[in-house]
Amino acid sequence: MEDCIFCKIIRGEIPSYKIYEDDFVFAFLDVNPLAKGHTLIIPKEHKKDIFEIEDLDKIVSVAKIIANKMKESLNCEGVNIYHASGEAAGQTVFHFHMHLIPRRKGDNVDFSSLKVIKVEKDEFEDLSSKLKIEK
Ligand code: 5GP
Ligand code: ZN
Repeated sequence: MEDCIFCKIIRGEIPSYKIYEDDFVFAFLDVNPLAKGHTLIIPKEHKKDIFEIEDLDKIVSVAKIIANKMKESLNCEGVNIYHASGEAAGQTVFHFHMHLIPRRKGDNVDFSSLKVIKVEKDEFEDLSSKLKIEK
């Protein structure tokens, strides 16, 4: 994709701090990190979001490799994996990416302020029947 920021990063037209690269996957430091070492993992082929991507397993395998590396080299105590697909979900760059955020107790990253909603029993039943996938 001509104008995609992340495609430009893969092509080297925009500089980045590269962490990992193979035939399918590229990973680099987020320019506006939530924590030191915040990494983005992306497919080399331009895919917009979760609905377009086919080889998600390749991204997930690299997430595991990088998480291990974060623990070993940054001494982090935990990791958050975050992803947004679609504007409604907060996606701002429309080339699929998975955020990998190294975490330590007492850091200032705050996912805990997310608000839960109330769902009644009949809605749980309706939702589960709508989402149920038979194998
Ligand atoms: P989203 O909001 O779509 O989940 O995440 C997009 C991420 O891309 C943001 O965390 C943002 O900081 C990062 N980002 C946007 N532009 C650039 C860039 O040019 N270089 C790097 N390294 N990260 C970027
Ligand atoms: Zn792209």
